[in-house]
Amino acid sequence: MAKIKVAKFGGTSMADAKAMLRSASVVNTHQANLTVVSATSGTTNKLEELMALAQGNSFENLEKTIEELREKHLNICIEIQADKIITDRVDQLCRELLTLAKGIYFLKECTPKAKDRIYSIGERLSSTIFTECLQQVLGPTVTVSFIDARDFLITDSNFNKAKPLTDEIKNRCQILKDTLETNSSQYYVTQGFIGKTIEGETTTLGRGGSDYSASIFGEAINATEIQIWTDVAGIATTDPRICPNAKIIHEITFKEAAEMAIFGAKILHPTTLVPARRSSIPVFVGSSYEPDAPGTWIKETSENKPLVRGITKKDNQTLITISNPSMAHAHGFLALIFKVFEAYDISVDAITTSEISVAMTVENRVSQNASFIQELESLGKIKLEENYSLVSLIGNKINTTPGIANKIFQGIGDTNVRMICQGASVHNFCVLVRQENGNQAVQQLHRAFID
Ligand code: ASP
Ligand code: MG
Repeated sequence: MAKIKVAKFGGTSMADAKAMLRSASVVNTHQANLTVVSATSGTTNKLEELMALAQGNSFENLEKTIEELREKHLNICIEIQADKIITDRVDQLCRELLTLAKGIYFLKECTPKAKDRIYSIGERLSSTIFTECLQQVLGPTVTVSFIDARDFLITDSNFNKAKPLTDEIKNRCQILKDTLETNSSQYYVTQGFIGKTIEGETTTLGRGGSDYSASIFGEAINATEIQIWTDVAGIATTDPRICPNAKIIHEITFKEAAEMAIFGAKILHPTTLVPARRSSIPVFVGSSYEPDAPGTWIKETSENKPLVRGITKKDNQTLITISNPSMAHAHGFLALIFKVFEAYDISVDAITTSEISVAMTVENRVSQNASFIQELESLGKIKLEENYSLVSLIGNKINTTPGIANKIFQGIGDTNVRMICQGASVHNFCVLVRQENGNQAVQQLHRAFID
């Protein structure tokens, strides 16, 4: 039985003819039989601009924007000397885009459903052209087929942020799985980000959703690995813009990667990894610009389990402290507080409690939510302190390793720590510092634990 591998390429890996050809040769070297692609870089943003323009009054600007998109894609076709079938298809997709834009222009309304139809054009354009690129690179002994992700990735009807219907997807993907298992000369190219409801309406998984698509497809066709190709050579120990000494992590567990994402690392979104993690499929993150660099493997378990794998930072945090003397020796107070958070769908990143007060961090913008704050005020005296950074050490056995707190405080020297949060997770130790000290704290901790 042939091994099934899924590769996903982001917008920068689809940017132009050169990037597409480079990505196609990555598919070749890494033997990825199913490729999921994003729209060419900047296209989804352009489509968003178009939706705004379409609700305005200048029809000319609308046509101009579509023409720009058309030219950008046709130029790639010219450079790779694409077959006429491909350029015709690009033209056809641009006409579909114009029809949709006209509808919005006349109605002066862009519904979430219409938005998803428009978004879908970006990925449908890039995947059409990439299918041709890949066929050219792989040569005539293999078959590269374009597939419409919407026939396989079935979702609910929550337009703009649809949820995949896993069982239905598995059923539909069975045929792809069967083919790939038995025919190693068959390759497929499809779109990330887009799906369809059972009723047949186009949906999207939310901006940046192509990684999620790759993980969903990987699970549905029982892939042995999922490769995420971007423009950075893997997951770094911290943001290299803050800390030039940051190193690429070669191996990390799903749990640690999820903690890093939740606590501020701009890596794969935790929901992206859910299908892969559920089915124990290793995920590789690498750069299509440097395909020979080692990259990062995200796996269920990892051989080495360092105390600190990475350091993340989340800015724009507000510390909310709620104090109420009648809390002493009482019970049910936290339940009342969290009811308010639940009602407003607001999540807490870090929390500590004492006898009569509770301190929690939330995003700055939460403190502008007047009715939320008012409801909290009915539970006690509220203090809001804005503009903090939550700096987190992510690793292993963090809550049971002796001396770690000492090392952290020595590491950050005289940087003032407003709150610490530790104990709930074996993977995480957070310190809350003033935002202006955030970068410095990351650098100091990186020096103490990783350099
Ligand atoms: N093209 C979509 C976006 O830019 C999806 C993706 O690239 O992941 O959000
Ligand atoms: Mg992207």
